[in-house]
Formats: sequence, structure tokens, C-alpha cells
Amino acid sequence: MMNVPLLVPTMLERAEKFFPKKQVISRTAEGKKTHTYKEIGERTRRLASALEKLGVKKGERVGTIAWNHHRHLESYFAIPGIGAVLHTINIRLAPNHISYIVNHAEDQVLLIDEDLLPLVESVKDELSTVKAFVIMTEKDSLPETRLQPVYHYEELLKEGNPSFEFVTDIDENEPAGMCYTSATTGNPKGVVYSHRGIVLHSMALGLADCSGLSENDVSMPVVPMFHVNAWGMPFAATWFGTTQVMPGPYFTPKIIAELIQSEKVTISAGVPTIWLGLLNELEQGNYDTSSITRILCGGSAAPKGMIKAFETKYKIPFVHAYGMTETSPLVVLSRLKSYQENLSDEERLDIRSKQGSLVPGVEMKVIGKDGDVAWDGQEMGELLLRGPWIASEYYKDERTTDAFRDGWLYTGDVVTVDEEGIIKIVDRTKDLVKSGGEWISSVDLENALMAHEAIFEAAVIAVPHEQWQERPIACVVLKDAYKEKVTKEEIYDFLKPQFAKWWLPDDILFLDTIPKTSVGKFLKRALRDQLKEHLTT
Ligand code: ADP
Repeated sequence: MMNVPLLVPTMLERAEKFFPKKQVISRTAEGKKTHTYKEIGERTRRLASALEKLGVKKGERVGTIAWNHHRHLESYFAIPGIGAVLHTINIRLAPNHISYIVNHAEDQVLLIDEDLLPLVESVKDELSTVKAFVIMTEKDSLPETRLQPVYHYEELLKEGNPSFEFVTDIDENEPAGMCYTSATTGNPKGVVYSHRGIVLHSMALGLADCSGLSENDVSMPVVPMFHVNAWGMPFAATWFGTTQVMPGPYFTPKIIAELIQSEKVTISAGVPTIWLGLLNELEQGNYDTSSITRILCGGSAAPKGMIKAFETKYKIPFVHAYGMTETSPLVVLSRLKSYQENLSDEERLDIRSKQGSLVPGVEMKVIGKDGDVAWDGQEMGELLLRGPWIASEYYKDERTTDAFRDGWLYTGDVVTVDEEGIIKIVDRTKDLVKSGGEWISSVDLENALMAHEAIFEAAVIAVPHEQWQERPIACVVLKDAYKEKVTKEEIYDFLKPQFAKWWLPDDILFLDTIPKTSVGKFLKRALRDQLKEHLTT
């Protein structure tokens, strides 16, 4: 066979050639903007030539600090298009982490949304490698800023070359992108994505048994483009000529519901927090969401009650998926097998609320205390992964040796696998509650709690205990309509039939909110710190 390199810019070239009329619709600060792939292609080539003029060389990193919109999409292709590396920066990281990753990646240029300028200005004096700041603004002139030297994105494009030729003479294993994981302790760790990894991962997104992304979809990534490339959707959607809807800055559940309705979105992707918010909104408003054929939900466990509510009340099918920054991210996805379609509603929901089975192209192992675990849905072990879109190391980081060993990625996730090969994430190794030598899954308890009609969100954490080493505590946020109307006892009565007695939380606390990480996951470390003295005996 021909050894043709798999390169990111060829994906955009396909959209330009075969789908020039298809559109990318962006919600911006100034209203909706629509561009065809022909226009996006030209603009991307102009940007690529401008970056070269600014002095960016092959292999160097260019950072983006931006929401989901067409300009960010252009940078997704322009930066790898000159052989440089697209470094998407998570805007929700603490300022000291932002300066750490910009310096660690040695970003040469930063592309910044105008409203995010204060974030960069606040760390300006710490940045040691950035030679130019490009402001992605809707206005004709540059805003006032202390950053130097600054350039206007649209002005650079005006002077750029619309026929610029993307690089072809690079190896497919060269880096095209990078993203730092929002580490809960220590500095963030960098993951580098190769051209080949991105292209193969995009192909997986298009498989009918995965997300089945295709030309006839209208795709809206709600998951940010600054976190794991919006799960790779913008790359794949461009390649396939899919219509893309970009939700832009500071979106709310109302905005998401309106965009689904007005743009007839067929597929969207995001973390459970987003979908819980949307569910709330749909319960209050009157929206037509009938265009949606599936929502991909991952990043943390999708509560069964939420999946059920979406599917039964709103006829919106949910596809539960699992991945991590280190895995591009898609590796596990939940679909019923053909012969499972005849099972009862409840049985089908049980299967689909697990994370699912392995996507073609990647391999797994599950290692327990005594080696490979039995596929019996009971025995727990750590999930190990390998494959062409799975990182092999952290970028210039000595923590590599903990996670990458013997050709495998040690995910730090504890799972069970059933007879059908369906994976269930039981917990992160560090979030499991280790009570008297046995393990309690915080995720199982949270899922059960969130199925209670009064409960909006629930996080279960381990707190130190003299006799049992650790015991679970449940932190619960009630829905507004139920505040102060539900007692602990009622919640215990709800849990008791579902769990062994020793699994039940030692206390249930009612909170106003649960602290979240930069990507909307429960920040359990903060709760653990707050509650470490809560139970001592
Ligand atoms: P971080 O949030 O630490 O930056 P990632 O976004 O890479 O990192 O998160 C990866 C982790 O998220 C996984 O290791 C796993 O613990 C958790 N995760 C992802 N998807 C799911 C899911 N569907 N169910 C449960 N946990 C999930």
C-alpha cells in the first residue's frame, strides 16, 4: 500500500473541494456569523501565511485562548497547516497555571479572544517566550491593551495570502496539537497530538457504531475547543463537510436550547453538567428539539436519571462516552448491540448508562490486584489503554513514568467489565472510598442520588475515619422547588433498597453548590479539604 502521510490540513482541503457551500455558523458577541467552507478555507490560508510572516516556524507552538467559534476553527487548521503546533489553552485554569503552560510549551504567538484579554494581561510579565499577541475581535480597531506587540486578526487576514499552500513535507507522526490536562494537583501535564493521531481519531468519530458523524449532520460541540480539541469534533466535522454550529462565548442553557432549535442541530457533545442545565431549561421553556438525533455525553459519569429524562420526556437519545485528554479523547462509547434492542426499557437503560465498549482501533487491559480481572461485571481493576490516538508520554514531564509503562497508558480509572465486554467506570483510583479494606464507588452512589426527583447534583467523597480508614459522605444540591422540603431521612430511605448497608453514606449534607473544576467536573479535592474533619469516629 502507499505510505501516504495522514496530515491535518488535508482534512480542510477536502471540505474546500467537496463541500464549498456547506456552512459554519458562529454565535459571536455581535450576533450570528455564517461562513462557507470555501470562505473558511481561504481565511485559514490567509491566517497560515500571516503566522509564517510573524516568524512561526515548523514545530513551534502557537497558543489559542478562545471560545468555540469560526476563528478558533481557522486556527485549528492554519497552525498545523504551517507545520506548527496548535496549543489550545484552557481559559478556566488558574492564572499561574496559564503562565506555566504558555512558558512550558514555549508558545511563540498567542491568538486571544478580546473578552479574554484581561486574563492574559494579568500574567503578561510572567510570559517568557511569546513574540506576538493576535486579538480575535469583532471590532474594526484594536482594543486598548498592555500587551505588546499586538495584531488585529482580521487585519492580518486582509494582508494574508488566500492561496497559501499548506505543508506537505512533514511526517505524520510530527505534532499538530497539544493540550494540558487540568491536573487536580501540581502543574498541568502536556499531551501532544500527532497529525496521524488526529486524523485516525476523526475517522473513528465518523464510524456508524461510534458517533456516526457525517455530512448530513449539524454538529454543535458544546464541549470547549480549549479542552481536548472539543473532543475532536471540529476536525472530523470539517473533514466530512458537516454543518457546524459554534456556541461562542458565555453561553447559557437557554442559548444552547435556542441554537438547537434555530439551527436544527442533530448532534451535540458535552459534559453532564451542561446537559443537566439544559434539562432544567427544557423543563421551563417550550423548545423544539426534535432535530437532535444524539447527544454525546462524557467527561464524567452521565447520571442514569438524566439519560432517562432526556430520552423519555424529550425523545433525545443519549450516547454515553468515555475518554481523557491523553486519549484524544474518544476510546469507549455506549451503544446497544443488535440483539440487546429487545431487552426491556430498564435493562437497555442499564446498559447504556455504563460507559460502553471499546472503539475500534484501540486496545485495553484491566489489571486488578491479581493481574487481569474476570469479565464478570464485578471484579474491579485499573483500565490500561493503547492505540494510535493515545499519547505515549507527557510533554517534557517526569510524571510520564507513572502513567505510561510497558507501552500502556495507566488511566487511573477503576472499572468493571461484564460478559459482553461493556466497561463501567467505577471511580478514579483517587476518588474510590476505601472503607475497611473494601471499595465503595462514589460514582454509583452519586448516580443513585441524582436519580432522586428532588436532587439536582450530588457528589460523594471519602473522609478519614478512625475505624474504617475512610467513609463516604454525600454532598447534595436540591432542585429549587424542593429546597428545605426534603429531609436526610427521606434520601436514606430512597438509597437503602439499592445498596448494602455499609455502602450508605455516613452523612448527607445539603449544599448550595458543588465546587467544579475548570471543565465542569466535581472538584472533590475542595470538598475533601472542607470536610476532612467531618467524621473522625
Ligand atoms: P481532567 O478533567 O483531569 O483535565 P480529562 O478531561 O482528561 O481530565 O478527564 C479524564 C477523566 O474523566 C477520566 O480519566 C475519567 O476519570 C473521567 N471520565 C471521562 N469520561 C467519563 C465518563 N463517561 N464516566 C465517568 N468518568 C469519565
